[in-house]
Amino acid sequence: MAKYKLEYIWLDGYTPVANLRSKTQIKDYDSFPKLEDLPNWGFDGSSTRQAEGRSSDCVLKPVAIYPDSTRKNGALVMCEVMMPDGVTPHPSNTRATILDDAGTWFGFEQEYFLYQDGRPLGFPENGYPAPQGPYYTGVGYKNVGDVARQIVEEHLDLCLDAGINHEGINAEVAKGQWEFQIFGKGSKKAADEVWVARYILQRLCEKYAIDVEYHCKPLGDTDWNGSGMHCNFSTEYMRTVGGKSYFEALMKEFEKNINEHIAVYGPDNHMRLTGLHETQSIDKFSYGLADRGASIRMPHSFVKNDYKGYLEDRRPNSQGDPYAIAGRMLKTIAAVPTK
Ligand code: ADP
Ligand code: MN
Ligand code: MN
Ligand code: MN
Repeated sequence: MAKYKLEYIWLDGYTPVANLRSKTQIKDYDSFPKLEDLPNWGFDGSSTRQAEGRSSDCVLKPVAIYPDSTRKNGALVMCEVMMPDGVTPHPSNTRATILDDAGTWFGFEQEYFLYQDGRPLGFPENGYPAPQGPYYTGVGYKNVGDVARQIVEEHLDLCLDAGINHEGINAEVAKGQWEFQIFGKGSKKAADEVWVARYILQRLCEKYAIDVEYHCKPLGDTDWNGSGMHCNFSTEYMRTVGGKSYFEALMKEFEKNINEHIAVYGPDNHMRLTGLHETQSIDKFSYGLADRGASIRMPHSFVKNDYKGYLEDRRPNSQGDPYAIAGRMLKTIAAVPTK
């Protein structure tokens, strides 16, 4: 028997962006526990905008477990928030809105800024650093500073230790801006891992006195790039049957639901989706081959393969909830007949 430290993680009830919350429970196990070995737990929902003070208990239902290499016998436990009955999803529980589908694959590209003293890491106290250009995939102190890469590398290793399916990392266009990519098979896996990767990043940054800024346009109305979270997606049908007429019907359905999609693609997206900086305007829907100014980009491989494969929705932003995004995508896709 060993004492395991189980860090139960959940999303609170703040809007428009939920915060990550967590607390530790110690339990005895013979070896690293499986999901089914983890009990439900509770918390005070009146402190997280998830309940009234009078009857404030909410239930935490574990949905995924990851090794936590920062702690002896540590585990990160992603949870859904349930009503006191333990079976009804809480209104804030966006994960519960995702249609279960093993054949759906998602890949999220999470962009973010590292922030210190209220400005991007590497920005001078007053004014701006040299204009963007050399920072994207850059190397050297004048491009990435002296601590950012250490954080990014440490984050990558912690995520890989946890079994999170990182596909890559890169320095982004603005100074102090970075990206990681997570891919998962199954409609909820990548979204779970994005939330846990965000958790690991925020916790890691504590010791550096650095914050993670997920806002999609933290530098406001300037020429500095904003942050997105492109959502690459494919269903089994898209990968194996596809075809031009199915693709066109799918795009029509996306166009029809433009407002429903934008509603869950992260707040303040009008600041980022301007038609500039490799984006389409927020009120327009378009798709294009390898077109980074389109709402949806078809990779070259997609068209070469007779409209089979995956697509990239470039509109979701860095502050978006991957659960809400995945849920909405699958709703739109489900409305298009496959025969
Ligand atoms: P870019 O920056 O050019 O858009 P990235 O390499 O950052 O490209 O991201 C592309 C992402 O597409 C990969 O990280 C991967 O997760 C995702 N992806 C690749 N193949 C598929 C697929 N069949 N279904 C869903 N997502 C996919
Ligand atoms: Mn990318
Ligand atoms: Mn990017
Ligand atoms: Mn992309």
